[in-house]
Amino acid sequence: MITAQVILKQGREKSVVNRHPWIFSGAIGRVEGNPANGDVVDVWNSKARFVGRGIYNDKSQIQVRLLTWNPNDAIDEDFWRRRLRRAIAGRQALLEAPDTDAFRLVYSEADGVPGFIADQYGTWLVVQFLSLAVERYRQTILDILVDLVAPQGIYDRSEGEAREKEGLVSVTGPVWGEIPPDMIEIMENGHTFLVDIKLGQKTGFYLDQRENRQKVSKYLFNKEILNAFAYTGGFSVYAAYAGAKRIMNVDSSERALQIAERNMRRNGFGDREDIYAVADVFEIMRAYRDNSWKFDVVILDPPKFAHSKRHVEKATQGYKDINLLGMKLLKPGGVLVTFSCSGAVSADLFQKVLFGAAVDAGRHVQIIERLSQSSDHPVLLTYPESEYLKGLVCRVW
Ligand code: SAH
Repeated sequence: MITAQVILKQGREKSVVNRHPWIFSGAIGRVEGNPANGDVVDVWNSKARFVGRGIYNDKSQIQVRLLTWNPNDAIDEDFWRRRLRRAIAGRQALLEAPDTDAFRLVYSEADGVPGFIADQYGTWLVVQFLSLAVERYRQTILDILVDLVAPQGIYDRSEGEAREKEGLVSVTGPVWGEIPPDMIEIMENGHTFLVDIKLGQKTGFYLDQRENRQKVSKYLFNKEILNAFAYTGGFSVYAAYAGAKRIMNVDSSERALQIAERNMRRNGFGDREDIYAVADVFEIMRAYRDNSWKFDVVILDPPKFAHSKRHVEKATQGYKDINLLGMKLLKPGGVLVTFSCSGAVSADLFQKVLFGAAVDAGRHVQIIERLSQSSDHPVLLTYPESEYLKGLVCRVW
């Protein structure tokens, strides 16, 4: 029985009717039935008609996270099972792929499980409960996953900014089954990687770049490459397989670069003369520019510069700076592979930033390929925020 209702202000139901899963506090007229945070509530329009059902949390800017638009859906074990089953069914091709065993199994709102992420790394799962809505059903969700996936163990990385915004503290550690080793070995398109699921960034590996690492390989044969923001060498391992001449890896994390070197050795590329520089990308690129160093390919995969709309302007400047430097470091006809994972920076805006950089660099720059997040990070049409990663491959003359 649902005993609490959230009643929207007049004229504020449109996004709910259009199946956007967030209701901000500003759209709410009144709350009846005194719900506790984490309770299921019905959402009514101003004329007291049902428009959706979700989880209440007045500690969050997103005061209701909608789970369903169907009044007949109870939020019970069966509901979560249907959602997780559907998410897994969408990854069937990946589950069956002979040369890949690491991918995102459940992607939050885009899979109808708001705030929940499950990444599969071989026989292990790494999960994140990033909203109170899914935190409340933590055990149910874990039990269903065990039933559907039968992992060797599940490790929790429920931490960071998103949890804070929901009024939740960080929780990390093993939550089911065997305790995973410090480094898990995975296979991605036939390439081997060590993943630090306990201390690595996010859940350990940037799975969203899997398809891009493959697509970019065709530009790398016999090339001198600057892999900026290299992390654990994702693009570099692919580059080595593709026959790259020399790879310069730059990252501010020494630990990440140590794993990058191990990853290269693991794939049989231990005796190459690549370089690993623990440095700030902005600084090292300026130094290369001042010394007129040139590359055939520059890969720029920075962390999120804009964490919200408020940061877009500053982020734009950061993207412009590195891309301008990237263009300057390329030989004529060289290839710039450039990404933005800031959801708040649209593909349009990102292209405009590149335009500005090209004008300032005085180079003739052509887009030759457009990239986005891998297919296991689907974009839900009713929730455009699920689209965040965009990339441009440019020929720079
Ligand atoms: N391309 C990688 C993922 C990159 S994630 C892959 O395919 O796996 C972004 C990386 O940028 C992180 O490893 C982080 O340590 C690094 N980083 C963040 N700010 C940096 C800076 N100013 N200079 C150098 N590296 C930075």
